Amino acid sequence: MKTPSEFMADGPHSAVNGIGPRHIEDTAAQNGHLSMSASLSKGSSVQSPVNRRKADDVHANGIQATKAIRNKNDIINLSPGLPGFSVDILGFLMLLWPPLCVSYFWLACHSYQCSLGDLGGQVLSKIFDGGIIDFIKKNFPEVNAGAIKLYSFWMLLQVILFLALPGRIRRGTATPAGNVLTYKCNGISAWVVTHLLFFILVKKGFIDATIISDNWGALMVITNVFGFSLAFFSYVKAHFFPSHREDRCFSGSAFYDFFMGVEHNPRIGPFDFKLFFNGRPGIVAWTLINLSFAAKQYQDLGYVSNSMILLNILHGTYVVDFFLNESWYLRTIDIAHDHFGFYLAWGDTCWLPFMYTLQSVYLARNPVNLPWWGCAATLVVGLAGYMIFRSVNHQKDYFRVEMKTNGKCTIWGKPARYILAPYVTTDAEKKHSYLLASGWWGLSRHFNYVGDLLNALSYCLACGFGHVLPYFYIVFMLILLIHRSFRDDVRCRQKYGALWDKYCQMVPYKIIPFVF
Ligand code: NDP
Repeated sequence: MKTPSEFMADGPHSAVNGIGPRHIEDTAAQNGHLSMSASLSKGSSVQSPVNRRKADDVHANGIQATKAIRNKNDIINLSPGLPGFSVDILGFLMLLWPPLCVSYFWLACHSYQCSLGDLGGQVLSKIFDGGIIDFIKKNFPEVNAGAIKLYSFWMLLQVILFLALPGRIRRGTATPAGNVLTYKCNGISAWVVTHLLFFILVKKGFIDATIISDNWGALMVITNVFGFSLAFFSYVKAHFFPSHREDRCFSGSAFYDFFMGVEHNPRIGPFDFKLFFNGRPGIVAWTLINLSFAAKQYQDLGYVSNSMILLNILHGTYVVDFFLNESWYLRTIDIAHDHFGFYLAWGDTCWLPFMYTLQSVYLARNPVNLPWWGCAATLVVGLAGYMIFRSVNHQKDYFRVEMKTNGKCTIWGKPARYILAPYVTTDAEKKHSYLLASGWWGLSRHFNYVGDLLNALSYCLACGFGHVLPYFYIVFMLILLIHRSFRDDVRCRQKYGALWDKYCQMVPYKIIPFVF
């Protein structure tokens, strides 16, 4: 799951899947900074000058791994095309606009029936007549002790479930320095326990089902403060007590480091920051937030609209799937490549719960009753999206496992078409990978993104066509995934060299066959 910050984040920290791109032997490549260089300098893949350091052989979790030593002195010029201050300005802006965006959408829904235009008109007039500060003060949500207790209880509960519930132990992919970490995947039981607890507390009268929607404004302030504090803590931790010193990534820009993150896998004891914050507080909350806004609709109108039920089903399917396949998630870019900074810390704790649930917030205030065929069509789009999403992702995993274990694989009833792609790791180790060029992966290089886009479209369609606000999500996903497809091309070309170009000739479209 991603935040707007990914547009900045995607480039640098996700370029290398724990191994270095082909022909690149320096630590910048290992960090993935060449990718950032490329994205910030309009696609050029100029190598960044870095200090070279000697590699040490170490054992990580019993696995022979090679660590290239990096530390604070390995300052990487991450933007050959941009002067340092431009990176600072970019970093600063990326810290500023997402919280403003969340606040804007919250206020539009809270006071303007989710009309972005009405709020925009009001803001402009206040800017012109000099009353903007008073306007902000007047509309700033009140934060009470109850909301703080609620959020504290929520976080504590999620941490306890994360640490205490049993789960399957899975290994992640190698980090840039070659560490292979283990993870306890117990997300699905945490999700079930949390939802059962919510139902019991509501049933017994300890809380109202509308508790989240009633505290929505206060929670926005609290999650913002929490997200920023977490990012700050992670930044300090990375400097003074890192979990894996050699996996840190320093850019030379404090803003950039704060934003993108320094540590690859911050941990405190068994508590893994990435797995916990990427999944638990935001994604477990996603379905509870929807339920709470459905309850709000019921409280206000005396019924729950069919669109709200539909939305709960569609979002619920995606969330449950996420936790059922939590070990798959370890191999996605979020966990395998990104570092832990503001964009993950704040993004997962504030952006995700507020922006991914916009549709239910909207429907609570603007009930939409879809005709039966509208419900059916939306459901078909959503389920088709979900099936494509799951099937494409599964096919890649299945293919790679089969090739590794049996050396052959059948896709859609025929022998798989593939490229055997050797690459060289940063410590000059020769390895190889397989690139599937048939089945879903023969249609386009990221057909899984089509599934996600159809999912996103169905969530928006469930809200009818009364306002643009619910459609923000599909626009966001479209930009996010298109950008991600470009970034992944850069990364894979660095890793596989000419063979990636060969693969691109065999599968010429990035996402949508014959279109893009
Ligand atoms: P992908 O699942 O598309 O994986 C890309 C990686 O797979 C490449 O870097 C490469 O890694 C490997 N690869 C590329 N081509 C092939 C091939 N032909 N055969 C085998 N392996 C190949 O990456 P993402 O992590 O971006 O996406 C995972 C899922 O998460 C998607 O379904 C996406 O839509 C979803 N998503 C959802 C978001 C949300 O907020 N809802 C946000 C972002 C993603 P290597 O070769 O190095 O192993």
